[in-house]
Amino acid sequence: MTTLLDLDTALHRLLDSLEPLPAGPSLPIAEAHGYYLACDQLAAVAVPPFANSAMDGYAVASQDEALRRGDALVVSQRILAGGSPGPALASGCCARIFTGAPLPDGADAIIAQEDARILDDGRVQFDDVPGSGNFVRPRGGDVEAGAKLAHAGDPLHPARLALLIAAGLEALPVHPRPRVAIVTTGDELCAPGTPLAAGQIYDSNATMLAALARDSGAEVMAVTHAPDDPTGLREVLDTATGADAIICSGGVSVGEADYVREVLASAGEVSFWKLALKPGKPFAYGRFRGRPLFGLPGNPVSALVTFLLLVRPALQRMAGAKAIEAPVRFPATLTAAVRKRPGRRDFQRGEYRIGGDGRIEVSANSRQDSNILSALTVGNCLIDLPREQRDLDAGERVWILPLTGWAR
Ligand code: AMP
Ligand code: MG
Repeated sequence: MTTLLDLDTALHRLLDSLEPLPAGPSLPIAEAHGYYLACDQLAAVAVPPFANSAMDGYAVASQDEALRRGDALVVSQRILAGGSPGPALASGCCARIFTGAPLPDGADAIIAQEDARILDDGRVQFDDVPGSGNFVRPRGGDVEAGAKLAHAGDPLHPARLALLIAAGLEALPVHPRPRVAIVTTGDELCAPGTPLAAGQIYDSNATMLAALARDSGAEVMAVTHAPDDPTGLREVLDTATGADAIICSGGVSVGEADYVREVLASAGEVSFWKLALKPGKPFAYGRFRGRPLFGLPGNPVSALVTFLLLVRPALQRMAGAKAIEAPVRFPATLTAAVRKRPGRRDFQRGEYRIGGDGRIEVSANSRQDSNILSALTVGNCLIDLPREQRDLDAGERVWILPLTGWAR
């Protein structure tokens, strides 16, 4: 009997075997969303680049004697965002100013317009004297010029792109997105849109895996179908060797029509096969003609779960991620008993909700077979049950992995 590999061991071995793809030419920053930085980045300009107002109001000199006495001040200039300040503020004067506009010389504080009274002669009076720096956004208050803003391996998500743009960057060195080929195996599979012949089912994994790969930052080069015979399978895999990685579905079990491992062994190497995981036990990983090949089980729930736990992190590593994001997890309380046999770590399909006391409650779907796709669309999480865990009662605490956006 093959010993079943622990999920965490498998993930480490898989990640250790992969390198980020070599960085290509820099990308214009507007096209860099979803990539990972290949080098550290320093701010080219300070953010903000000049001191400016945080409010619509009046710029004043907080030490001005006229202001401190409570005198009405003359509005000597008006500065809009994008405008330039006029001469330095004289004593007894203030500047009308709007959010984002630069402060005139001599001004060191802003009084909000709600706290100003406009007199008939156009002068303004303030009840309170602001402290120096009140409602002023100082130059470099967010980021100093030359400061390290981002590190190699950081993901270029919308907020980081915004920060890098604010700091004056225009092109970014990035790792390329991994280009993947998806190959589904199975003589029973029929393409969507074609009437089913006897014994056929629709190939749901092809489109699901392509979507998961794209949502994980990969570029899908090709989606092909291979027959359940070693020669035909090898021919299809040979057409996929232009990809950075091959994601294969089906044919990794111990059935008589399961040829993925055999073909992998004959034209590369099998790094590991069979995990202490449910669903997803037959998962195989290796190299086909030097390309990483992920052999996912054909049952759609197993394919999705192994993609989430193993393929997505691998694609992130190839894409240059410094830190591989583990799926988000929360503690939750079971609302009903759950059946669990020891031996494999189980990711059961479940549904969680926030209970009346604000705590997270979860129940397992009554149908845990790995072909039951509807358990994934009705449900909204996976319940992560440790390898040696046995049956659980209502009220026990478990960890859940919400299936958010990209995985649902
Ligand atoms: P296999 O891993 O090839 O033994 O397939 C396990 C089960 O998953 C079988 O019932 C297959 O018919 C089904 N299956 C395999 N590939 C797909 C696919 N691409 N789409 C939907 N079901 C599949
Ligand atoms: Mg099959």
